[in-house]
Amino acid sequence: MEIKKIGVLGAGTMGAGIAQVCAQSGYQVILVDIEQAIIDKALKTINKAWGKAVEKGKLTEDAVQKMQSLITTGTDPKDFADCNIVIEAIVENMEIKKKVFAQLGEICRPEAILATNTSALSITEIAVASKRAAQVVGMHFFNPVPVMKLVEIIPGVETSQETVDIVTDLSIKIGKEPVPAQETPGFIVNRLLLPYINEAAHLLQEGVPAEQIDKAMMLGANMPMGPLALADLVGLDVCLNICEYFWKEFGDSKYRPALILRNKVRAGHLGRKTGKGIYDYTKSL
Ligand code: NAD
Repeated sequence: MEIKKIGVLGAGTMGAGIAQVCAQSGYQVILVDIEQAIIDKALKTINKAWGKAVEKGKLTEDAVQKMQSLITTGTDPKDFADCNIVIEAIVENMEIKKKVFAQLGEICRPEAILATNTSALSITEIAVASKRAAQVVGMHFFNPVPVMKLVEIIPGVETSQETVDIVTDLSIKIGKEPVPAQETPGFIVNRLLLPYINEAAHLLQEGVPAEQIDKAMMLGANMPMGPLALADLVGLDVCLNICEYFWKEFGDSKYRPALILRNKVRAGHLGRKTGKGIYDYTKSL
């Protein structure tokens, strides 16, 4: 199957980036979220990135106009009816994802592929809800999508090789480097990254200042950014959900989320996307 039109469900941090890279590679994209205001914000972010590229001479105005014309938007998943693939990037919650995949299974063309950008959840469980499990696959992008090269490709128990081949090829065509991963909580990157972020949050709770933790990891472990700044970039709600899921799936209390993560999320301080998280970004917004 040739991919011509890509649906992206969820216009948040990840969905906006996925829509951007797909349009940059010449694909028609329909970006759907529950509220027009969220979509408008995503389009603003995309246009800002393209505007900067024009300023730097990396893109022409003509190319930007062409890419802009490739992105349409909507607030109803029924808009995905003519897509060859839908990439889901909504909230990291199994019950909500299952509901959405059941709906997509009914709306989309019979041959369409449904990919999930879940950070950690079971692809198989999501796939079963769609009633087309052979065409459901994990396509795990990284944040910020236009910059990060990796896409983890995760087949569920029933995913067909054809589906894996198509999304692997698509990942390459949109300028990414696909790496096959297994269906285990967190796949490869998050399986290693989240316990590290969570441990940093525990240290913070024990009284070590955030700046010191981040500086130490950058200078002593050669990390490009510290774990707490990274947690704010990922979103503290996303981090908390993944830690909760690891704890539940592995049954090991070493994955128990630090209370400070939980409390920040309760307060609505989700990181960069809300202006406050471990750090305060309101002055730079
Ligand atoms: P986000 O909160 O920025 O965006 C999620 C968007 O989904 C919101 O705009 C919300 O309105 C929308 N949404 C929620 N329910 C919806 C529904 N039923 N229909 C349509 N839209 C709906 O979240 P995000 O950080 O972009 O994460 C999205 C997914 O990508 C999650 O599964 C997350 O685990 C995964 N992910 C996140 C990162 C990251 O660094 N943030 C990295 C890789 C993967």
